[in-house]
Amino acid sequence: MGVGPIGKERSPTAVILLIAATSGIYGFIWLHRVIRELRDHSQLVDVTSPGRAVGLLFVPFLGALWGLMLAHLLPSWVRAVEDQHGRGRTNAPLVFVLFLLLFLWPVAIWVLQEAMNEHWRFHAAAAGADACYAPATP
Ligand SMILES: [Zn+2]
Repeated sequence: MGVGPIGKERSPTAVILLIAATSGIYGFIWLHRVIRELRDHSQLVDVTSPGRAVGLLFVPFLGALWGLMLAHLLPSWVRAVEDQHGRGRTNAPLVFVLFLLLFLWPVAIWVLQEAMNEHWRFHAAAAGADACYAPATP
């Protein structure tokens, strides 16, 4: 079972405020980074390339459809990564509905970022425990 590098913990509040303050531009950066982290961290989950995921959003018409798919795919990827490492908790359909109710996007982002933070902390804690039990090198 593959466990790649742990992603970066981010304050959900800071992410939401940055997206609002940049009129959404930071949202694309955030999306690119979290998709890359999820992909690198998980070697089983079929996560698309972060560049393609963000780039497709700028294609006329197709971009809107892709955005809709992404609102479903992103929470599904987070859930798949959690399940892969035995820590499933994210309600992906619920996050999708929150994204669909457009004014609730901050809640959706908050849920996703918190879920990822918790997953990264889980690995960090496990790595710390492993370090404690590792035999001392002579
Ligand atoms: Zn993991």
